[in-house]
Formats: sequence, structure tokens, C-alpha cells
Amino acid sequence: MARVDDCLFCKIVAKEIPATVVRETDTTLAFRDINPQAPTHVLVIPKAHHPTAAALADEDPGLAADVLCEARNVAADEGIEDAGYRVVFNTGPGAGQTVFHVHAHVLGGRDLRWPPG
Ligand code: IMP
Repeated sequence: MARVDDCLFCKIVAKEIPATVVRETDTTLAFRDINPQAPTHVLVIPKAHHPTAAALADEDPGLAADVLCEARNVAADEGIEDAGYRVVFNTGPGAGQTVFHVHAHVLGGRDLRWPPG
């Protein structure tokens, strides 16, 4: 699905809502989370609308790979690869997903505890 009109992240892709973009490819966009939970907190999204990671895996596995590669590239750009970082896809309301345009949270720059809350 190319675009959903009332989707916040589709509007960021279309530059209708501002965002602090750190990387962009033909298929993906990476921008800083507006409410960061770590010194590095970047969201990586496919430009095309897919609601969840599960839907993206079913509908376009190549694009899912693009998102994962960009998560790695963000970590490299941010200098958090060696210390370690976390890539999180909250999937469904019960896991805390609030924006239903799939996004990878790339988190790092501090000690990350396990298990997550
Ligand atoms: P979720 O809870 O896993 O769906 O994550 C949604 C994320 O989007 C949250 O971490 C929010 O802080 C973030 N967010 C919401 N609106 C914006 C925005 O306009 N720009 C950047 N990040 C946003």
C-alpha cells in the first residue's frame, strides 16, 4: 500500500509534517524520535505504508530487509555499533505500538536493560 491519508508517518514521508531526518534511501526514511528514550533513538520506516512488521514481512520481504539494513546503517552513523544497540518493532497495541506504519526503533548510547518493560 503506497500511502494512507490519515497516517502520521506517511505525512512525514511526504514532508507534510517536519521531522529530523538522518538518512533517506529510495525506499526508506530514518528520523529522530520526537520523544527519545535513549541518547540515540531513531525510527526507520519504509516509505510505503505497511501497518506492522508482520504485515511488512508478508507483503514485501525485500523492503523489510531494506529497513533492517538501514537500522544497521543508522547505528554505524551514530557510532553505537561497538557498544551495542537495540532494534525494536513494537507489534500491536498490547506491545505498545501507537503508530500503525511499521517502524524500527534504533536505540543506543546508554546501558540497555533486559528484559524490557
Ligand atoms: P510505537 O509506540 O512503537 O508505535 O512508536 C511510535 C513512536 O513514534 C514513539 O516513540 C513516538 O515518540 C514517535 N513519534 C510520534 N510522533 C512523532 C513525530 O512526529 N516525529 C517523530 N517521532 C514521533
